[in-house]
Formats: sequence, structure tokens, C-alpha cells
Amino acid sequence: MIFSDAVRLTSIALWISTDALRFPWMGTELLALAGLGSLAALVAHNRQRYQPLLTFLKPVNDSKAQLKELVEEMQVGLLLLDPSANIVLSNQAAAHLLQLTPAQLEGKVPFHHHLQIATELGTPLPFSGHPIQQVINTCQPLYDQIFKVKAVARGDWRWLSITVIPQLSPEGALQRVMCTFHDVTLFKQAEESLKTSHQRFAWYVQQSPLAVIEWDLHFRVKEWNPAAETLFGYTREEIIGRCATDLIMPPAAVPQLAQIWGRLADSPSADGQNAQHAIENTTKSGQLLMCEWHHTLMVDDTNQAVGVISLVQDITERQEIEKRLIHNAYHDPLTGLPNRALFMKHLERAIAVNRRSTSGTCAVFFIDVDRFKFINDSLGHSIGDSLLVELAHRLKTCLRSSDLIARLGGDEFAVLMPNLPGLSRAAQVAERMQKVLSQPFFLLGHDVFTSVSIGIASPELDGDRAEVLLRNADAAMYSAKESGGASYFIFTPELHARALTRLELETDLRRAVERQEFLLHYQPIVSLRSKIIVGFEALIRWQHPKRGFVSPGDFIPMAEETGLIAPIGLWVMQEACRQVRQWQQRFPTKSPFFISVNLSAVQFLQPKLIDEIQTVLAESNLSPNNLKLEITESVIMSSTDYATKVLDRLKQIGVKFAIDDFGTGYSSLSYLHRFPVDTLKIDRSFISQLDTDVEKVELVRTILSLAWNLGMDVVAEGVETQKHLAQLRLLKCDYGQGYLFAKPLANEQITSLLSQYGPMVS
Ligand code: C2E
Ligand code: MG
Ligand code: MG
Repeated sequence: MIFSDAVRLTSIALWISTDALRFPWMGTELLALAGLGSLAALVAHNRQRYQPLLTFLKPVNDSKAQLKELVEEMQVGLLLLDPSANIVLSNQAAAHLLQLTPAQLEGKVPFHHHLQIATELGTPLPFSGHPIQQVINTCQPLYDQIFKVKAVARGDWRWLSITVIPQLSPEGALQRVMCTFHDVTLFKQAEESLKTSHQRFAWYVQQSPLAVIEWDLHFRVKEWNPAAETLFGYTREEIIGRCATDLIMPPAAVPQLAQIWGRLADSPSADGQNAQHAIENTTKSGQLLMCEWHHTLMVDDTNQAVGVISLVQDITERQEIEKRLIHNAYHDPLTGLPNRALFMKHLERAIAVNRRSTSGTCAVFFIDVDRFKFINDSLGHSIGDSLLVELAHRLKTCLRSSDLIARLGGDEFAVLMPNLPGLSRAAQVAERMQKVLSQPFFLLGHDVFTSVSIGIASPELDGDRAEVLLRNADAAMYSAKESGGASYFIFTPELHARALTRLELETDLRRAVERQEFLLHYQPIVSLRSKIIVGFEALIRWQHPKRGFVSPGDFIPMAEETGLIAPIGLWVMQEACRQVRQWQQRFPTKSPFFISVNLSAVQFLQPKLIDEIQTVLAESNLSPNNLKLEITESVIMSSTDYATKVLDRLKQIGVKFAIDDFGTGYSSLSYLHRFPVDTLKIDRSFISQLDTDVEKVELVRTILSLAWNLGMDVVAEGVETQKHLAQLRLLKCDYGQGYLFAKPLANEQITSLLSQYGPMVS
């Protein structure tokens, strides 16, 4: 505006001054008449540009020459024409702006042959339509109209802002026409590019996958893009001009929104112009959507708020996913129970409440499924998983609604019982749990028996920090496990000390593997008929640097739990095979000694077992027939398919099998024929009572006949006395092993025993 006003005023000033040029007598009077204070202001605004005019306006010297000089120096194009459109005066700027030579600016206005003219938007105008002609025809002034003008010879279009003013005689006859013009091409180009960028912006808004809404400050919609149509179901036509908040916002959100906008408008600074929040919106069909809104305040040139642009994104799904993620972070996917993290949060809260309470207590249960690994490995993971789910169900039935049960991981569960009148109540719950678990689970066609070991801790007894409490319950659970499982223990400080010892032992055991603190003892297995040694059982010993010999009963279960049984078991196999091969070579007998090696359930289920055995046999050069693997009944009974496969494969290689501690496990005699077992080792508990218990004698007799029927031989374990021996010989038992013949001995002792070759017992 300022720019075009300036140009208009300049035109008037020039009109006056050019008249002054031609009619010097009018000069100063007219200038005074014009009284153009605003012109002075304009000139002051661009002092350098209008310096000549300024000088002229003084006006000290209005000489013709000076005026001419001034007109020449003007950067505004000037044409003065007579009523027939003949140019009577032009300046350099006119020639320059019209891209014509001064010569071309003589005579008629050269629109017909040197210049082409078009409207601002580029529509060509006929010769008669050019602005000067129009003014001559109408005698109406034309101010600041933009035309596109092109010099035919030069060829580039320019936008010129043209002012044409007619001068009329008092009678109204046209006397002169003055035309001034200046170049607005740069301005127009800037405007065009602004327009294109607006168009581009509008296009982006149309394409945007985000809903874009433009509002006035009264929540009336001014723009509503297709994404907004899709999101909310209202078409642009339906919503433009309407107060959309009534349609898509819950009533409570409107004041909230007004507050947010108010804050934006109060601080239209760069930081304050954006706001973001989430609202539950309603679509046209009534569906509820959780949407994230980003509002940006729109301001005018004077920084006054004029509206708001909002970008809206449907985050319903994202929120669902977030909710699910949070749920997953705190729940066990298998059972749907809270996990350790959530349990610990609840526990911390319960402890805090308990601290403030004067009566009652809370208890933490640590529950571990007995022999779970075994069930999992042998019956398969899907049965293992189903067992955990069913077990969690049953445990829940023993609890109140205020109690919390969580799965800590694997086969470990935890229970939090707040507000207990006393710990005896916790003990009752533990007993009830054992009872509900005593019934078999029927899972995928299998009857599965299981029990749990439970440890109970309470802040009353020791420790009122969540981790300490859970650790104490864990220690108590271990004691329950050590006592044979299917029981519960309440934590005491003594239990804690025991748990620590256990932990120490576990650390030591890891180190023992690295430091090779193990050695093997060998217990002879003797033919009861000839009393000569037929083989040996390899029994591991741990020579602990501080504790001395640690019995396998104390560390084998720990090695199984920690997985250390794998390297330990392999070492036993290598060492035993190497040793017995050495004895075979040094003491050749008619039938070479065999070596019995104990194989734990965990080892039996290792896929690399067969390969390892083959390698050991090859390295030791021992015949596979002389290696007997001792496994317990439970190993093969509970994983029948897999066990059969492994046994068959090893059988093909030539390796033999013995069922160890026979009579203490499942005792499913009818199953035995399914497996390629060579030997039954009758458990010591039967043998030790042979001389006192007639029933045991009968039992052993039955076992013997069964084994022979199945083509197996029998070893009696724990033969300690001559009476045992006599009874076994009467029963015609094949082989015996026990302190009567020899205790497990170090290899040197066996070597010297074998050196005095002969019957073991006279
Ligand atoms: P087991 O395989 O039944 O081994 C026989 C156990 O009975 C040995 O106990 C042996 O010392 C003991 N014994 C032998 N004769 C008599 C006797 O006349 N009277 C009495 N009271 N005991 C007798 P040990 O060496 O303490 O081994 C205990 C168990 O540890 C073994 O029972 C076996 O299950 C396991 N074990 C030993 N060495 C290994 C091994 O290298 N690997 C695996 N996986 N387990 C092993
Ligand atoms: Mg054994
Ligand atoms: Mg045994």
C-alpha cells in the first residue's frame, strides 16, 4: 500500500512539476495548492531517490533546465501526451522501462507496433484497450493499474504499474494526459511464487494423511481436508462454517480446548504457538477415537490471533499397542499372571502398609514346581506349559481375592498375602496348595503328577525390604526342596545361613570344573557265583580344597540344576573308559572288565550325548560292549518315546544299559520289556533287609525271575554282609556290589587289588 500510494503521489507531483515545466507561471502556485505534506513525507522516506525532486520542491530555482534535469533523473517512467495520444514529453526511465529507444518514444504511443500489452494476468489487450487510450476515451483517471508490457523487439514481459491522469480544461475538454509507470515485476514475481507456494501448501494439506483443520477463534471450521473427512466422517461441505467442537469433541473437552487456545493466543511467541494434547473424539457414526491434536496459532501481520490450525492423528491403535506393551511388561504371556516386576511393586506397597499397621502381617510365598525340568524335558514343552497354566489355576483357588499370584519365571511362582492375622494362616494356605496339587493333571492325554516346594517369608521374621523378603522366601523354598519337595518351609535366619552355604557351594562347584578337583573311585562288581570281579562302577568324588571329600549326593543335584553336569559327566565318561581300558590291557581276563557309568536324567536328554559317547569310545579304544550306562527308572519311564530312540541308537552302537536303584522309582515292571536294558541293579534298600524281612526276599525273587524272563542279568547293590551274600546266592542272583566286596576305591587301590588276582570273598 505504502508503495503504491507513494507512486500515486509521485505521479501527482510530477504532473504538477511537468506542468510547471511547460507552464512555468503555474509552478509554485500549484505546488502550494497541492500542499502535499504527504508528498514531503514520501520524499523524505526515500531521500536519495527523490533528491532531485526534493531540490525542486524547495523551490529556490524553478528554471526550465532544472526541471528538465529532474524529469530526466526520475526513475519513474513518464509520458506526457496530447489528446490525440502523441507523446509530447518522455523521460529516460520511460525508455528504459518500456525497453524502447528514445526515438521510438516520439510521435504516437507505440503500442501498435513496438509494444504489446496484456492484463495483469497476461490476457492480451487490443490496441484500443491500452490504458492511455482508455483514459483519452473516458477522461477518467487510472491509478496504479498493473499491466504486462513487452517490447516486441526485446521479448520479455514486465509488469508495470501504470497511472494515467487526464487534465481537463475548465470546460471539461481533454487537454493533456500524463502517464507514469514503474516496474513491479520483482514484486509480482514474488507474489506469484508466494501464490504457488500457497497452492503447493494447499495441495499438501489435501494430500496429507493427517487430518488438517483450520478454525476461526470461535471454533468454526474454515478448512477441513480429506483426511479429516475420513477420520471424523463429516464431509467438508457438512462442516465448513460449523462449530465442529459440538460434533466431534466430548463436552468436557471444549473448555479444555478453549483454555489451550487461550494460552496460545496469550503468548503468540515462537515457543507458545504450539500445543499438543490427546482427546477422545466422536466420529459421525458415533465411534470413539483417541486422537492426538497439535494446535498452531495463526496470527496476522500485527501479531493478532486470527485462528488455529490443528493437525489430528488417530492414535487409538497406538494407544492400544502401548497399553498392550505395558501389560506385557508386567505380565507373563503364558499364564497371564503378573510377572516379577509387577509383583515387586505390589510387594513394596504391601510392606509399606504393613509397616504402618499395628496388627496383622503379610507373607510372601516362593513356589517352585518339583521336578519340573524333568517333566518339561521328558514330556515336551507343550505339556510343561499346560502344566504351568493349570497349576497357576489351582493355586489361585487357594487364595483370597486380595492375594496376588505372579509367575517369576520358569517354574517359579510367588504369592503375596497381605493382611494376614498371623503366619499360621499362611501355613494353612501352603498345606491347602499341596492338597489341591496332589490330584493328577490330565494334560494332552497324559496324567501328570506334580507337587511344589514352598518357602514362606514375612517381614515379621526377617527383613522388610521387598528383595530381601523374596530372597528369604526363596531360601526357605530351597530347604523345602532339599527335604524332598512337596512341602513348605517358613524362613528363619538359620535357613538363610544354609542358603548362603549352598550358594557358596555352587560357586565352588563352578570353580571345581575349571580346577579339575574331581576324581573317580571305582567299586568292583563281582560275580556271585565265581566271586571274581567282572566290572566296576565309576563313582565321582569332589576333593574340595577346604571341605575335603564332598559326596556326589551333595553336589550332583546342584550340577544338574546349574547345567554343570554336562562337562562333569563327559569328564567322568572319558576318565572311566580310559581307566578300565588300561586295566583290561594290564589284567586280561576271559571276559574283559566292564565299566558302569552313572548317567543323570539331564545328561540323558542332551542331544549331543550319542556323539560324545562315540568319541569317548573311539579315544579310549574301549569296546562299546564294555561300557554300561546306569540310568534310573524314572528317566526312561517318563520320556518313553525319546528314551526308546536314544536307547535304541546306543544299543546299535553296542553300549549296554543298567537300570540303577531298581525298585525305588516308578517300578512299572510291565514297561521294562519295551526297553533294551541289559541289567537291573536292585536298590540297596531291598538288599539291606534280606536277612530280616521275608517279604523283601520274595520281592527280590520276583524281580530276579522277571529280569531273567526279559533276558536281563541282575546286580544286587549294597551287599554288606555274608548273610546278604548267602541269601543272594540262594536266590541265584548274578552279581553283587557292596562294602562286603569292596568300598569304592581309588584307581591305585583297584590296581593293587587286581594284582592279587583271585576271588573277592572266600
Ligand atoms: P549309585 O549309582 O546307586 O551308586 C551307588 C552308591 O551306593 C554309591 O554312593 C556307593 O558308594 C554306595 N554304596 C555301594 N555299596 C554300598 C554298601 O554296601 N553300603 C552302602 N551304604 N552304600 C554303598 P556314592 O558314591 O555316594 O554315590 C551316590 C550316588 O551319586 C550314586 O548312586 C549315583 O546316583 C550318584 N553318582 C555317583 N557318581 C556319579 C557320576 O559320576 N555321575 C552321576 N550322574 N551320578 C553319580
Ligand atoms: Mg549307579
Ligand atoms: Mg545305585
